[in-house]
Amino acid sequence: MTVNGLPATFTRDGQELVITPRFGLLNHLPFVVAVTYDGSPETIVGSPVVFGAPYGWIYTDDGAFVGCEPNAASTWFPSDDHPSKKATFTYRITVPDDRAVMANGDLLGHWTSGDHATYVWNETSPMATYLATIDIGNWQIEQGRTPGGIPETAGLDPALADQASGIFALSGQITDYWSQVFGPYAFTSTGAIVDNVPDIGFSLETQTRPLYGFAAGSGTVSHELSHQWFGDSVSVADWSQIWLNEGFATFAAWLWTEHTGGPTTLQSATDGYDRRAATSPFWNQSIADPQRDTMFSSAVYNRGGMTLAMLRNKIGDADFFQLLQTWTRTHRNGNGTTAEFTALAEKIYGQDLDSFFTAWLWQKSKPALNS
Ligand SMILES: [Zn+2]
Repeated sequence: MTVNGLPATFTRDGQELVITPRFGLLNHLPFVVAVTYDGSPETIVGSPVVFGAPYGWIYTDDGAFVGCEPNAASTWFPSDDHPSKKATFTYRITVPDDRAVMANGDLLGHWTSGDHATYVWNETSPMATYLATIDIGNWQIEQGRTPGGIPETAGLDPALADQASGIFALSGQITDYWSQVFGPYAFTSTGAIVDNVPDIGFSLETQTRPLYGFAAGSGTVSHELSHQWFGDSVSVADWSQIWLNEGFATFAAWLWTEHTGGPTTLQSATDGYDRRAATSPFWNQSIADPQRDTMFSSAVYNRGGMTLAMLRNKIGDADFFQLLQTWTRTHRNGNGTTAEFTALAEKIYGQDLDSFFTAWLWQKSKPALNS
């Protein structure tokens, strides 16, 4: 353990690592901390945050599937594990030479030495810790560019090579479309990591390259790739504002459906609204202030998506898409809050939207359709 190159003392208190530098740090000057550590990552199981499903470092039949939202990054690297604490990442990963590694960003190189192989991946854009992934296994790699010219790399578990064969083309089309409607793409590459872990059953918007535990279809791919704008580039300031991620990604999947000839976002939202009676527990939480055990609730996703579909209907397409593009531009590679989003919406619309946002985001009951 060193600070600015000098040995430092440390203690560990549960999840917290406390490092004491040899000399005091100077106000407002950068410093470098180097942490050397070893261990075997343990999967998080039984947490109420994700309904008891395993997450984090998950061992697979050929390696590992690593999906860390919200707090599993610190199970495999020391970090300030909070969505507001972004960093660039370089990984140097050594595995048995019959395995390969997929990760965020760009593959700088790989080589073999004896019976081991080393892969160096680099993510040059700031990234929140929960979006970091390194996935070890056998990968069938597809590389190229999206039709719009964004570099793209997909890695597929060979067991899913047929089932998921369309994901490279689909991911390219969707990344390009989101670049038009949400604003320029913030990262150096896009793609997919498709692993065969059907009993895990989740996907995650790992930065530049979403992680799928199965052969994902357009609903899932459009959701995860929209998070590259809403969640990854513009990250929540804290987890209580996660509707800014999941409501937006739910809306985005509806928007992809509309774009490809299906129901409009308003129809998708209205269907979900009509389907749920006012007495349904779905309506009795503030989606802008969920608790630990409701941050991944259906309401955060679906009422969040409805909020945006209803906002689009209320303020019209010109203001609505200007709002989304202004949001992604002004908070690019940073963080955003609900209060900043609603203030920007009012500024662009030019009228007060307090009663609308109170009804859709805060009130613990079913909003009126004309809110
Ligand atoms: Zn999501």
